Amino acid sequence: MNNCPECDNQLKVEDKITAEYYFCDKCGYGHIEYSYPRCCLYSNLIPVRYYTDEIEAMQNSDDYRIYNQCQNCGKKIGQQISKNKFDKNSIPQFDNSLLEHTNEVSAELRELSKQLSERKIQNRRETYWDDYDEYLKSERWLKIRAIVLERDNFKCQSCLDAPAEQVHHVDGKFRKNEPIFTLVSVCTKCHEIITEIERGNYRQVEKIKYKFDK
Ligand SMILES: [Zn+2]
Ligand SMILES: [Zn+2]
Ligand SMILES: [Zn+2]
Repeated sequence: MNNCPECDNQLKVEDKITAEYYFCDKCGYGHIEYSYPRCCLYSNLIPVRYYTDEIEAMQNSDDYRIYNQCQNCGKKIGQQISKNKFDKNSIPQFDNSLLEHTNEVSAELRELSKQLSERKIQNRRETYWDDYDEYLKSERWLKIRAIVLERDNFKCQSCLDAPAEQVHHVDGKFRKNEPIFTLVSVCTKCHEIITEIERGNYRQVEKIKYKFDK
């Protein structure tokens, strides 16, 4: 993919060692394509002397094993290789810095993918509410709304006192496909209170005013 699916701008690509990060510098779109195992299978593998002990490594001792190390990501790949295949001084030591660098980039990548998925969720949420706003203007919704108001005799079903001006969704998951029993007529005041409570502000919210409160 070369162009941004959101704004059609040319995507840029950044090498993240085990992955490629494609991003749009115009709108912030991005996705990550993992190149592992391609990285370790087909790139630069070389045999290295691998020490389990740091001191032994520093002393360049004979207590080592031979493995292939991917020169791209720094990972130790596959099975141990027979020692008598190589002359000790002809092969380098395992390069820890490659692996450390990969670990840093991986942490960066994790953070990046977290941001990208948050952005995706945010976009989906915005689209959802845009569509919902459209729906509230539709002829279908206006008819449903009228049925509910009529069923409730145009009286608020929250305070059973004020005239109902609005229709409330008792359960948000039925938005845009509402069984009528999930809808109730409410007055503007009660609707405000209900919305506050639904948002979790139930402590500060004022009390519903019933007839006996007046
Ligand atoms: Zn874009
Ligand atoms: Zn690799
Ligand atoms: Zn009311």
